[in-house]
Amino acid sequence: IKKTAGQFSKGAERVKQAAVLGAGIMGGGVAYQSSSKGTPIIMKDIRNEALELGLSEANKLLGGQVSRGRMTAEKAMKALNGITPALSYGEFDHVDLVVEAVVENVNVKKAVLAETENHISADTILTSNTSTISITELAKNLQRPENFCGMHFFNPVHRMPLVEVIRGEKTSDAAIARTVSYAQAMGKTPIVVNDCPGFLVNRVLFPYFGGFSAMMKEGADFQIIDKVMEKFGWPMGPAYLLDVVGLDTAFHADEVMAKGFPDRMQHEGINVIDKLFEVERFGQKNQKGFYRYE
Ligand code: NAD
Repeated sequence: IKKTAGQFSKGAERVKQAAVLGAGIMGGGVAYQSSSKGTPIIMKDIRNEALELGLSEANKLLGGQVSRGRMTAEKAMKALNGITPALSYGEFDHVDLVVEAVVENVNVKKAVLAETENHISADTILTSNTSTISITELAKNLQRPENFCGMHFFNPVHRMPLVEVIRGEKTSDAAIARTVSYAQAMGKTPIVVNDCPGFLVNRVLFPYFGGFSAMMKEGADFQIIDKVMEKFGWPMGPAYLLDVVGLDTAFHADEVMAKGFPDRMQHEGINVIDKLFEVERFGQKNQKGFYRYE
């Protein structure tokens, strides 16, 4: 995989200043990873509490690095200072690459991406961390679709090596090259994939969640399924994984997959993901999902 990525990033200019939209689970993780690997980043959200949470999570991770002797306190401080929280697009005209990581909703994303385009320079690369939504679809209202591609990180960003770089219909080779090189600078293993709902990983993962949901409908116990999947060798079972991902994000992603692959991914009635979303059990982010986190 690494060899292939190298071909894509040849000749790409280094990203010197990045920005991320959204300071949630993913945006906060991207900010930490970028800054701790030496690329300063602006972290923009529409809520101050989200920015505070994102910064405190980064601070916690950096503290962990220092106490394990993997980073000097000075370097950790530099990394923390390399994350600039923002509620406006003030400094976006100096940014080389933007990662959009707001809610998994096609209309919200389209509006945020179009708005961002008005604040960045003509050669800034715009990317989306969408889990499932087609990049070609997201590019439809953009003035410069050639500068836009997917940059799909996995959760938790600091631990998961893979990044899917997704080529939309109009994405240029230069945009792919710069995005691949930024992922490499962040210490990640990028793969370049074609565009479709769910890309590569979630086309494999969501049918697995579908199988799990079907068993729940038949009366299975999620704790047993989780234990069994761990014994099978997976780091965690499907219920715990859904709590980590967030049931709101999983719900929206599941909708996109059902629409994209109606013959395979649509289910009758509501499933367990729908149910937990409906009763606002969003997982670890609000301390209750399949499990309770207090
Ligand atoms: P989250 O709910 O934790 O965070 C979303 C953040 O976006 C919130 O802080 C919210 O205030 C902010 N936001 C909303 N509108 C905004 C706007 N207009 N401008 C700036 N910020 C705005 O969600 P998340 O889990 O971090 O997911 C974000 C994206 O990443 C989604 O597209 C999701 O599909 C994708 N993703 C999630 C995971 C996962 O495991 N959670 C994994 C890979 C990709």
